[in-house]
Amino acid sequence: MEFNKYFQTDEDCYRYLSETKWSFENPYQCKKCGHLKYGKGKKPYSHRCCKCNYDESPTSGTMFDKLKFSLLIAFHICFKISTKKKGMSSLELSEEFGLRQKTVWEFKWKIQQAMTSSRMSQLEGKVQVDEFLIGEYEEGKVGRSGDSKKKLVIVGLEILEDKKGVGRAYAQVIEHASSKEFRPFFETYISNDATVITDAWKGYLPLKKDYPNLEQIPSEKGKGMQQLHIHIMNIQGWLRGIHHHCSKERMQGYLDEYHFRYNRRAMMGSIFDLLIKRMVQSEPKRLIKSKIKTVL
Ligand SMILES: [Zn+2]
Repeated sequence: MEFNKYFQTDEDCYRYLSETKWSFENPYQCKKCGHLKYGKGKKPYSHRCCKCNYDESPTSGTMFDKLKFSLLIAFHICFKISTKKKGMSSLELSEEFGLRQKTVWEFKWKIQQAMTSSRMSQLEGKVQVDEFLIGEYEEGKVGRSGDSKKKLVIVGLEILEDKKGVGRAYAQVIEHASSKEFRPFFETYISNDATVITDAWKGYLPLKKDYPNLEQIPSEKGKGMQQLHIHIMNIQGWLRGIHHHCSKERMQGYLDEYHFRYNRRAMMGSIFDLLIKRMVQSEPKRLIKSKIKTVL
C-alpha cells in the first residue's frame, strides 16, 4: 500500500530515480565535461550542464534506459521481484502487466545483474559448503537421461551457533567438482578464518592451505549438513517451480536473484530501495543473443 501511495505516476518514478542518481553522497557531475553546476533539463527531473549544455535524464546510463514499457510498470516489477518471498517468474509478470513474456524476461535479466553480490562481505564463523546439480526438469524426462544438461552449483551457508539458525548464503555455477573450480568461490565468498565444513570429497583437500579451519565430515546421506541441504532443496524447488532450460549465464542470474532476497530476508523494508540504487548505478550488460534460449 505504501508503494502504491508513493508511486502513482511515471513522474513519481522519475523523481525517485533523479534523487537516487544525484544524491548527497553522489552529487551531480556532468558526464561530458565534468562540470558540477546544472540547471533544469528538457524533460522533468533531467539535469542540464551549465557549461556544455549536455542534458542528462535520470534514466540515461542506468538499467531503466530505453524501456519497452512505462517506468511505473518497471518500478512495479522491481517491487514484486524484490519483496515477494519467491519473486515472480516472467510468465506471471507478463500476465499481470499485459506485456510480452520475452520483454519481461529481458528486463528481469537486468534486475538479476543488479542483484549480483557486491562481493564485499564474506561468509564467516561456521560455514557449510557442498555442491549440487540443477537439472532442466523437462517433462517426461525422469532420472539420469538429462544428466548431461545438468549444471553443477557450489553453495555455502553460514550456520549461526547461538539460536541454531542460519545466516547468509551464496551459490555459483561451476564446471567440475574440482579444487580449481572451488577456489574462486571460496576466495570470493568465504573468510579465511571461517570454520568450513565440507563432505569427504578430495577436491576440497587442497583448500586446507588457505582455510586452516576446514573440516571434512562423511556425508551420511546429508545428515552432517542438514541446514545446507534444506537450503539446497529450497533452491531446487524454487527453480523447478518457475524456470526451465537455463543457459549457464542465466542460471547464475537466478542463483543471484535467489540469494539477493535470501540474504536480505530480515531487511525487507529497504530491499526495494537497494535494488533501484543498484540499477541506477550500473549499466546493463548486453544479452548475448545466441544465449537466448530460455523462457519463463
Ligand atoms: Zn558539461
